[in-house]
Amino acid sequence: MRALGIGLIGTGYMGKCHALAWNAVAPVFGDVARPRLAMLCEVDDALAARRAREFGFAGSTADWRALVAHPEVDIVSITTPNAFHAEMAIAALEAGKHVWCEKPMATSLADAQAMLTAARAAGKVAALGYNYIQNPAIRLAARLIGEGAIGSVNHVRVEMDEDFMADAEAPFSWKSAAQSGHGALDDFGVHAFSLLKVLVGEVAQVMADMGKPYPTRPLQEGGARPVETHDIATILLRFASGASGLVALNRSAWGRKGRIFVQVFGAKGTISFDQERMNEIELYTAEGRSDLQGFRRILTAPVHEPYDRFIPAPGHGLGFNELKIIECRELMRTIAGEPAHLIDFETGLRIERTVDAAARSFREGRWTEV
Ligand code: NAD
Repeated sequence: MRALGIGLIGTGYMGKCHALAWNAVAPVFGDVARPRLAMLCEVDDALAARRAREFGFAGSTADWRALVAHPEVDIVSITTPNAFHAEMAIAALEAGKHVWCEKPMATSLADAQAMLTAARAAGKVAALGYNYIQNPAIRLAARLIGEGAIGSVNHVRVEMDEDFMADAEAPFSWKSAAQSGHGALDDFGVHAFSLLKVLVGEVAQVMADMGKPYPTRPLQEGGARPVETHDIATILLRFASGASGLVALNRSAWGRKGRIFVQVFGAKGTISFDQERMNEIELYTAEGRSDLQGFRRILTAPVHEPYDRFIPAPGHGLGFNELKIIECRELMRTIAGEPAHLIDFETGLRIERTVDAAARSFREGRWTEV
């Protein structure tokens, strides 16, 4: 495979995560050409130049359109706040570049649809940052469910909680502005829906409630601004398969640091996973001696691909950033025309439809079709 040229827009939390992935994907996987880190973009020239030095990019700019147009850029990593995703992704696709865009896909269903239209017209790979589905533990859970280890799935719950917005005195940020979307529903909900997609299947109907724990947040410059998004969302689900479910989301949940607690209940057993203990799953199967029944804790190990690419020893564990390296490899696989495990804009739009249906359900106070 020819070395692909990378353009990275944004260098915050996710920008650094993408940069680490682009730096690590070749040494970790050993079967891809090392990408050329061509150009990086930040909001001003000085920051862009500093980050380019730190992250190993050859060039830098404060103009994302210049990055997108740059002849040495083949793939554009978009890691800017949500409100920029649609405009940047569409411009990159129109310039003939592959796109790796952070979640949520967009802040409106119309924008997400326009992104998919642009991807289809360009014929380029367009993928989204749904790293949690890449966890070898989640892949194991999906395989076990597919093999019937817990029988037919009848109910599922996903609880996603963090406390980075739990402090009522935390200053107003882009996450509280309406331009970023609905709030926890698209900030967290899309991750939950990506996991449900690979573990259970299509969501057919939703019924949602949302909450705003703090109506205003302080501004850095003094005073306060009304909060325009909902930091809490609860969504009842009905799946196409007939199973029922619940997704509960809270960005203001004191004490929860990175919880994504998934429970999949079937006719013959249960599987559970928690992102705060991301290197294990628990499996309960209703079989064997009744006095010895209980959940079995399974630690991930080299046998759970692609764990083996990182560490030869079982139970030593992968971290969050490593999920991004796996996602990066899946993106390169897709570009090379190989089968890959990735959420592209087609599947991403289905997730956005679920978000949109949940938002409508909350507004209208009734069950809504996806
Ligand atoms: P952040 O605020 O830490 O970083 C955003 C960066 O984009 C900043 O460095 C900012 O200066 C830069 N930026 C803003 N406007 C720009 C522009 N016009 N040109 C160039 N750079 C610009 O935000 P974050 O937490 O990294 O979130 C970014 C995106 O990643 C969001 O869409 C978020 O939903 C997503 N995210 C995904 C995950 C995941 O697990 N996949 C986790 C966190 C965030």
